[in-house]
Amino acid sequence: MKKNQIGKTGLYVNPIGLGANSIGGYNLYPNLGEEIGKKLAQTALKNGINFIDTAFSYGRGRSEELVGETIQELGMRDDVILATKGAQRFTPSGMQLDNSPAFLKQTVEESLKRLKTDYIDLFYIHFPDENTPKDEAVGALKQLKDEGKIRAIGVSNFTMEQLREANKDGYVDVYQGEYSLISREVEKEILPYAVEHQISFVPFYPLASGLLAGKYTKDTVFDDYREKMPHLQGEAFVRNLEKVESLREIANVKGQEVAQVVLAWLLRHDAIDVIIPGAKRTGQIENNLKTLEVQLTEAEIKAIDRIFG
Ligand code: NAP
Repeated sequence: MKKNQIGKTGLYVNPIGLGANSIGGYNLYPNLGEEIGKKLAQTALKNGINFIDTAFSYGRGRSEELVGETIQELGMRDDVILATKGAQRFTPSGMQLDNSPAFLKQTVEESLKRLKTDYIDLFYIHFPDENTPKDEAVGALKQLKDEGKIRAIGVSNFTMEQLREANKDGYVDVYQGEYSLISREVEKEILPYAVEHQISFVPFYPLASGLLAGKYTKDTVFDDYREKMPHLQGEAFVRNLEKVESLREIANVKGQEVAQVVLAWLLRHDAIDVIIPGAKRTGQIENNLKTLEVQLTEAEIKAIDRIFG
């Protein structure tokens, strides 16, 4: 199987990874049982996926615990590139974002315990806080990297300005941000910056939370965070479904499914080495792996871009 290096990290992955928010992550998908969640991680690892993306905030550590348990049970720690994120501090008065060096070091130690490992392959600052200079925050992660506790440094949800500050010393390996056919803001500045600085870009919500997998209809009813997502409501939802139908014509001609064409469209980007579609069913993981068989021509890429304008 073809493996991609994530940017300049020396970490090699199957370009199809697994987004583990649904695994024990009760923030976005409150309705998925833990055994099904673990089964998703097992299916991914047994089928050649070796990159899993989790975070402390996915179920306040529960996702990390379930992912760590699954890897341990399969005895596959050496085979997996494990990514997690932190920056949330929970206090009696609620959640605060904290990028201070002391807190980042503490949260990495806690993630290590939950993941049942002594190193994290890729650790991201999940969200920027208001006060910490971003190069100082990344400096703390560089120390952890030098100590062998993490192997690569990521930031997520940073603005362009925050990313520049974070990367002042060239230490940022990976940026994670929202990117899909219907969410393309990062094309303006962040993706070009990533290419220029050899920062690997990991797109989240690659399937626009399921919309771009091509199975929803205007009668689909959502029972989780998708109830509140603007692109899945009212007029916007109807317009998006029409675009997905146009995309289906391209997929049909190729004998592929819509989701695979959508994921292949992401993977063709110079800055993108790996993608992390989420899943609720094991069959979705197997389907998404078939993206590796899809080659898009320049004409198809142009046609897809025209549909989504
Ligand atoms: P997503 O990958 O865009 O969509 C996942 C949904 O697509 C699944 O729940 C499933 O929907 C559907 N799906 C997936 N494969 C399919 C297939 N082959 N056929 C049909 N449907 C398919 O959204 P996501 O899972 O919310 O996000 C992906 C990952 O990004 C997360 O797991 C997380 O790791 C990361 N993330 C990071 C941030 C951040 O702040 N850094 C924020 C959000 C997410 P159904 O449930 O309808 O079956």
